[in-house]
Parts: sequence; structure tokens; C-alpha cells
Amino acid sequence: IRWNREQGWHDAEVGPYSPLALDPAAMVLHYGQAIFEGLKAYRQPDGSIASFRPAANAERFRLSARRMAMPELPDELFLSSVRQLLAVDSRWVPSAEEESLYLRPFMISTEKGLGVRPASEYLYVLIASPAGSYFSGGIRPVSVWLSTEYVRAAPGGTGAAKFAGNYAASLVAQAQAADKGCDQVVWLDAVERRWVEEMGGMNLFFVFGDKVVTPELTGTLLPGITRSSLLQLASDLGLTVEERRISTDEWEKASASGELTEVFACGTAAVITPVGHVKHAGGEFDIAGGATGPVTMKLRERLTGLQHGHAADDHGWMTKLG
Ligand code: PMP
Repeated sequence: IRWNREQGWHDAEVGPYSPLALDPAAMVLHYGQAIFEGLKAYRQPDGSIASFRPAANAERFRLSARRMAMPELPDELFLSSVRQLLAVDSRWVPSAEEESLYLRPFMISTEKGLGVRPASEYLYVLIASPAGSYFSGGIRPVSVWLSTEYVRAAPGGTGAAKFAGNYAASLVAQAQAADKGCDQVVWLDAVERRWVEEMGGMNLFFVFGDKVVTPELTGTLLPGITRSSLLQLASDLGLTVEERRISTDEWEKASASGELTEVFACGTAAVITPVGHVKHAGGEFDIAGGATGPVTMKLRERLTGLQHGHAADDHGWMTKLG
């Protein structure tokens, strides 16, 4: 679907997967107006295809567009693009390894121009790919590197938008984490470098017995759809939920005392992944001996059961789209 100032959204079409033609002066190549979303579709036991809270992705896509001075794609167009793509992909049959269809909507500026300003022409595209487990080796606790050298997002910046530049800026820290022998980076706040924000493509949860804590949305972290769903599911399970700041100091001390019983990360791609080991510039520590805990497993079961249509959809989160 294209957008320009005169016609608004127009020229919606479904076509074969093929390269995009872009002018070398297309503004996205220079000034980076590029946003995206990530959502999954799951084959249901009755043969239909349903997606998990796609309206929430449509809304976040509009908010990302607003932050990047891009036109907002109406929710109906976002959802109908998913429906049309799933109609074309209706023969897709999930296998054990590739159990869902990952959908990647994105928007870029296409206007030719070398001046820095919001472009007046854009292209929205939706592609899809079968998806398996995010971390190789299935569900196993990952190790994380607390990044104090690099930050992902500063107050007033683009951290709450699903903006391509946020990910480009994170690559060097991801490489640093890998150098330290860790699977993932944990981002801290830009000002004090002590408040936990999120991971590369996931939000974080801390379990203190029957209390579940996740960093509050300060405007510098992505408001994850899995995050908001798990806050609800945890409270459905009778757990106390809290959104508040949590420091790296509290994380380390509560791990040592045993008060912190589990840590996990969550997101559309990663689902729920336990965090077992933490490294930082001053040392390293385990959480609960590096094992996967019962709250993590219970929430994971609830969430995946719901998504695959094996558990009751009490909150009306599954949307039939194909
Ligand atoms: N944080 C970041 C930086 C992400 O890229 C993602 C993935 N979209 C998340 C958190 C988790 O968000 P969601 O649950 O909506 O996938």
C-alpha cells in the first residue's frame, strides 16, 4: 500500500515476493524513516488461522508512525493486509519446527530527496515467514550482559517506537554481549545506567515468589504486547503483579538472597525465555541456580496454549484472520 500527500493511502496490492525498486535518493536510505511490527499467526485445531492480538500491533504501528513523522496506517488497512496475505498463504501447514507464521509489516519513506524533513511518499509492505524457536536448542535459560557502555534509548528519544534505527544502534552492544559469552543484552536507563529496561527484542519479568514485577513503561522501552498479556495472565493465576523500577543492584542482591526466584524475558518471537545467568562489568551471578522456574513454565504454558487454540481464550485475544 502506498501513501502520498495528494492521494493518502492507495494502490493496495497483493503480489509475488520480489525485490523492491527504490530510487538511490529514496529518503529512507539516508534519513532512516523505517518502522515495523512483528506478530504471529497460528493454525488452530479447527483448521482456521488466528493471530494473537493483531489490533494491538496495528495500534503500536500507528504510534511508531506518529513518532517518526510518518502517516498513520488505519487499523482496518493493517488488519486487512494480514487477512489478504493469510488468504494467499492458506496452504501453510505448521510443522514441529516451524509452528507459527511470523508476520512482518513495515513502512519506509520512498520520496526522492536529500533534504532532511519528513518525506511525502511512503510504502507499507507485509511479508511473512514460517517461524520456529527463537533460541536454538528450545527452552533453556539464557545468559545476559548488562550493558553500561551503550544505551538503547534516552528520554525523549525513540525507545517506545518500533523504529528500525533502535535495532541498528543495538547491534554493537549485541556483538559485545556475544564477546562476553552472553546470549543477549539487557538495556539499562540512559541517565543513571542502573534501572533495568528491556532486552534486544524482549521485555523482562522478575519473579519474587508469588509476586511478578516488570519494569514500568517510562517512554524509553517498547510497550510489548506479550508483556501486557502476561501481566493479565499472571494476575489471572492469582499472582501479585507490579510495574515498577528495578535496579541492577536489587537484581543482584535479591538473586544472592534467594528472594528473586525467577527471571524471564518475553516477546512475540521469543515467547517466554528464562534468564539463568547475568554478567556485568563488575562480575557475574546466577538466578536460582540457573534453572527454569515454575512460574515461567506456567505462564509459558498458558500463553502458548491460548495461541495454539488449546486453552480457553478468556480475554478474546485470538482473532481469526484466515
Ligand atoms: N522490546 C523490544 C525492543 C522488541 O523489539 C520487542 C519485540 N517486538 C519486544 C520488546 C516485545 O514486544 P512484543 O511482545 O510486542 O513482541
